[in-house]
Amino acid sequence: MPEIYQNLIGGKWVDSSSGETFADINPADTGDIVGLFQASTAEDTRAAVAAAAAARREWRALSAPRRGEYLAATARIIERDLGGIAEGLTREEGKTLPEGKGETARAVQVFDYFAGEGRRIFGETTPSEFGRTLLYTVKEPLGVVGIITPWNFPVAIPAWKLAPALIAGNTVVLKPASNAPLTALRIVRACEEAGLPAGVLNFITGSGASVGAELAASPVVRGISFTGSDTVGSSLYGRVTGRGAKCQCEMGGKNPMVVMEDADLEKAVNLTINGAIWSTGQKCTATSRAIVHQDVVEEFTAKVLEGVASIRVGNGLEEGVQVGPSIDEAQMNTVLEYIEIGKEEGARLLAGGNRLTGDPYDRGYFVEPTVFGDVSNDMRIAQEEIFGPVLGIITAADFEEAVNIANDTRFGLSASICTGDIHRAMEFADRIEAGMVHINSPTVGAEVQVPFGGMKDSSTGTREQGHVAVDFYTDTKTVYLEY
Ligand code: NAP
Repeated sequence: MPEIYQNLIGGKWVDSSSGETFADINPADTGDIVGLFQASTAEDTRAAVAAAAAARREWRALSAPRRGEYLAATARIIERDLGGIAEGLTREEGKTLPEGKGETARAVQVFDYFAGEGRRIFGETTPSEFGRTLLYTVKEPLGVVGIITPWNFPVAIPAWKLAPALIAGNTVVLKPASNAPLTALRIVRACEEAGLPAGVLNFITGSGASVGAELAASPVVRGISFTGSDTVGSSLYGRVTGRGAKCQCEMGGKNPMVVMEDADLEKAVNLTINGAIWSTGQKCTATSRAIVHQDVVEEFTAKVLEGVASIRVGNGLEEGVQVGPSIDEAQMNTVLEYIEIGKEEGARLLAGGNRLTGDPYDRGYFVEPTVFGDVSNDMRIAQEEIFGPVLGIITAADFEEAVNIANDTRFGLSASICTGDIHRAMEFADRIEAGMVHINSPTVGAEVQVPFGGMKDSSTGTREQGHVAVDFYTDTKTVYLEY
C-alpha cells in the first residue's frame, strides 16, 4: 500500500475535507505509485489561507536576519537528505538521478542565498526638499502569498519561490503540481524540521481547478507566484490582478540556439543536445529550435544525429540512463501529436519520432529523442511549445536572418548563440528578445544569484532569483521623518 501524505495547515498535518486522495505515479514505471496525496477542496484552501493569515503578524515582526536563520537551517536539512529527495524526485518526475541530485543541490543554494538576503533587503535614503528630514524607503511583506508550481522542477521552483517569499516576511500557501507533489512536500518538511513557526508555510495538494482557483480568488492572498503553462498563467494573471493583487507568471518558451559558421561545432552540437534532449526536453528553457548558418548546417546536422543516436533512454533511477520519460500519458501524446504535425507540415524527420515500446518502455511514457531537419520557422513545431525531446533544425543564410528567425516567436525566455566572433555575440545579446542570453553556453541553466525570467509571452516581467526576487514579494513604504 503506498504511503498517504497529508496537507500541512497551521502546523498540523491533516486530511482533506473531501476524504479523497489522488495517486502520484512514476512515469517510468506506472505500476510504481509514489504516494497518495490529498484531493483538497476550496474549503481546505480557505483553511490554509486563514492559517497563513493568522501567522502573519508574528513572522513579519521577526527581523529578516533572524528569518534567514530558518532558511539556512532548512538548507542544511535538504543537504543532509539530498540523496533521498533526489530519488523521490526521479521517481515522480522521471528525470535522471544525477539531474535530480543537481536540482536538489540547487534548492540548497537557493535557501542559502536567500538566508543571506535577509541581511540585504535594502531600502533607499534620499535627500529631502526640506531640512532636518530623513527621507527613506523600506520594503515590507505583502502578507499572505500563494505559490503555484509546475511538475518539471518540483524541488527547485518551490524553493526559489518560497525562500524569497519567506525572507521578505510573507506567510505562504504552497500548492505543488499534482504530477509531482512529493518533492515539494520534502522541502516543506525540511522547513518544518528547521523550526519554522506554525502557519508560516502551509502546504496543500489538489487540482489547479479547486486549490489553485481558490488561491487566485481569495481576497486575503495579496500575491500569487505561478510557474507553468501560458494557458493557465495568462488566465490566472487576469483573475489575480483583476482583484488588485500582484501576480507573477513564468511560462513557456521556444528557445533558439543560433549556430554561426565560425562556431566550435563540436561544442555547439553538445550544447544543442544538452538543451534539447536532456531532461526529456521538459524545461521551459529547453532548446527547441537550432538556427544554423547555411555553411555548416549539413555538418552540424550529421553530428547532432550521431550524438542523438547514442543517447540511452530509460528509467532515470538506472545508472547510465541519460533521458527519462514524459511526465504522463497526456504529455507523451502531445509530443507524439507534434511529431505528426511536423511530418504533415513538411519538416524532414531525421531521427526518432516514435514512442519507445517493449520492456521496460511499455511500463512508462517514453518517446525517442527526435530531430527534424528542413524546418521553417512558420511551422507549428517551430512556434508552439512541445515540451518533449524534439529538436527542429532551421537553416539561416546569415547572422541577420538568424537573429530575425530567433526573434520571430511570441515567446522570449532564453536564447543562445555559438560563435567565435565577440562582436557578433554582443550584437546578438543586444538584439535578441529574450530574458536570458547565453553565449557559447546552452539555453538551459540558471544561477541563483542573477534574475531569471522571460520577455514577451514567456513571463509577466517581474524576475525570480537574484536579489530582485524579493521585489515581487514586497511593497515599498516611503517614510518622511522630520527631526
Ligand atoms: P500547468 O498545467 O500550467 O500547471 C502549473 C500549476 O498550475 C500546477 O500546479 C497546476 O495544478 C496549476 N493549475 C492548473 N490549473 C489551474 C487553475 N485554473 N488555477 C490555478 N492553478 C492552476 O503547467 P505544467 O504542465 O505543470 O508545467 C509545464 C509548463 O511550465 C510549461 O509550459 C513550461 O514551459 C512551464 N515552465 C516555465 C518555467 C519558467 O520559469 N518560465 C519553468 C518551468 C516550467 P495541477 O498540477 O493540479 O494541474
